[in-house]
Amino acid sequence: MENPLKIVIAGCSGRMGHVLLECVFADGDLQLHGALDRVGNPQLGRDAGEQLGVVSGIKVTDSIEEALRNADVLVDFTRPEASMAYLDACQKYDVKMIIGTTGFSADQKQVIEAASKTIAIVFAPNMSVGVTLLINLVQSAAKVLKEGYDIEIIEAHHRHKVDAPSGTALRLGEAAANALGRNLEACAVYGREGVTGERDPSTIGFATVRGGDVVGDHTVLFAGTGERVELTHKASSRATFALGALRAAKYLSAKNSVEGKNKGLFDMQDVLGLR
Ligand code: NAD
Repeated sequence: MENPLKIVIAGCSGRMGHVLLECVFADGDLQLHGALDRVGNPQLGRDAGEQLGVVSGIKVTDSIEEALRNADVLVDFTRPEASMAYLDACQKYDVKMIIGTTGFSADQKQVIEAASKTIAIVFAPNMSVGVTLLINLVQSAAKVLKEGYDIEIIEAHHRHKVDAPSGTALRLGEAAANALGRNLEACAVYGREGVTGERDPSTIGFATVRGGDVVGDHTVLFAGTGERVELTHKASSRATFALGALRAAKYLSAKNSVEGKNKGLFDMQDVLGLR
């Protein structure tokens, strides 16, 4: 492409960073412009493509300024404290930002929102295109099925995951609850054991499976009288999140000035045109 989008990857030697590099190298519309990682990271000073057998000409750096100068979009999958520093710098150098990092406090989320008054940001705890679509399908299904269908959310993840249920499962529960005018916090039931009594029809149940190397499976079950509707998404590799993040980068940077975004806070629903 004549004018490829200049992408900076933060956390480039992490699990997501690695897959992001692979996806950027494979996409002719994108060009690696910078590769950031933390002070003391052993990859600093090495070619960002080294571990993938690619000579990119871009060295891994901890200098935000060096990486961001003249860049178009920073893609961040790191840790909240790192994201906050990158957010500051993106405002300073007028670089758009894709925030895939999770685990922000309410205060930090407010800082992100405030920053979106000056730069364009896509912020989503799950960048998978399929999961974003699933959230929408769950909303539609809940609106059509209404009461009379018991909603249960079943999720499975690898043995290393430390929290349950997954943030995505909670987001799916929220989508169903909102569509039905319920408050998830009040109606969620997390696991069952012993003599539980009959199921309260106003509840939304969650069940968690952990094991092996499952990247992430989510099913939303609507169990009615005489039928069940099951909406399922299965992630088989981290590439789904990386490809979604890069799609978000293109969404913010559409060359057409009417379509491109200079400021504002967006999520994957916006990126996919699902609003
Ligand atoms: P990881 O631990 O493999 O990689 C994190 C990277 O960030 C590493 O390169 C690390 O050196 C760097 N880093 C950590 N602290 C830093 C700091 N203070 N300054 C600069 N760099 C720092 O983690 P991962 O599995 O790649 O996940 C990264 C983040 O992305 C997590 O928050 C995870 O929950 C999130 N994630 C989000 C999605 C999504 O779709 N939004 C998908 C997968 C992972």
